Amino acid sequence: MVGNRKRDTRPEMELRRAAFRLGLRYRVAARPIARLPRTADLVFPLARVAVFVDGCFWHGCPLHFKPPRTNMAYWGPKIARNQARDAAVDAALREAGWQVVRIWEHEDPVAAATRVAELVQSATSSERKDGANR
Ligand SMILES: [Zn+2]
Repeated sequence: MVGNRKRDTRPEMELRRAAFRLGLRYRVAARPIARLPRTADLVFPLARVAVFVDGCFWHGCPLHFKPPRTNMAYWGPKIARNQARDAAVDAALREAGWQVVRIWEHEDPVAAATRVAELVQSATSSERKDGANR
């Protein structure tokens, strides 16, 4: 059922590498919340940030998705289902207090990683403020 979500795709690896270079440490292909049967590509448990790298075709990128010439009756609903599932996953995570970052595979990995780093840093620093008064 998660068949089209391949692990270790090139855009994913590039994002991971860029994020690592920025000093980020994360879990790979992990479930952000145990009861949600869905893995995110990069997971920051402390900051509660989940990052998904979405393929332009499978997730219907507004810039790059071109309906296939053949079998649209098959692909159309399949991609619509992916998008609906993405939205449901995002909603479930947000409800559980997570921030969700979706990155298109066409995005520049360094720019995307920088966006993630900013989010993670602000999430962990506000966490610290809430926490023990040291
Ligand atoms: Zn795209």
